[in-house]
Amino acid sequence: METETCVAPVLLRCYKCGETKPEDEFHIDRARISGRRNACKVCCAKRQSAYGKNRYASIKDVPGYKEVMNEKCRLRNRKKYATSAEFRQSQIDRSRRRVAELDDIYIKELLGLRTDEVTPELLELKREQMIVARAVKELLNAIKEIQK
Ligand SMILES: [Zn+2]
Repeated sequence: METETCVAPVLLRCYKCGETKPEDEFHIDRARISGRRNACKVCCAKRQSAYGKNRYASIKDVPGYKEVMNEKCRLRNRKKYATSAEFRQSQIDRSRRRVAELDDIYIKELLGLRTDEVTPELLELKREQMIVARAVKELLNAIKEIQK
């Protein structure tokens, strides 16, 4: 009889789900008289994950969040552009490289069309055209050199 009362678990009632559960189903909370939290571990975990999701969603789901962040980024870059000669030079180098390599961004600029109007075929065609145009220019320059 004596041992039975000793092993009998302390039961607590969760204020959230209303279930009566053994003490160790509740996190320790020394600030409380019971020494345990008033919500069970399961309910605490649920609340935690719901909070995590809400917090994550609240930032990303705000209308215009992306636009604001993009604008911030653009302004920061512009500031950097205006103050740092090195940054300015890197931008110039990048643009020169684009021209030299006839990369997609440069070709799109040449076409002067909206991004959704540019098909891969059109991009390739324009690139070919540029290669031919450059070859012709080089040839004409070579002929000029010979005629001198
Ligand atoms: Zn509970």
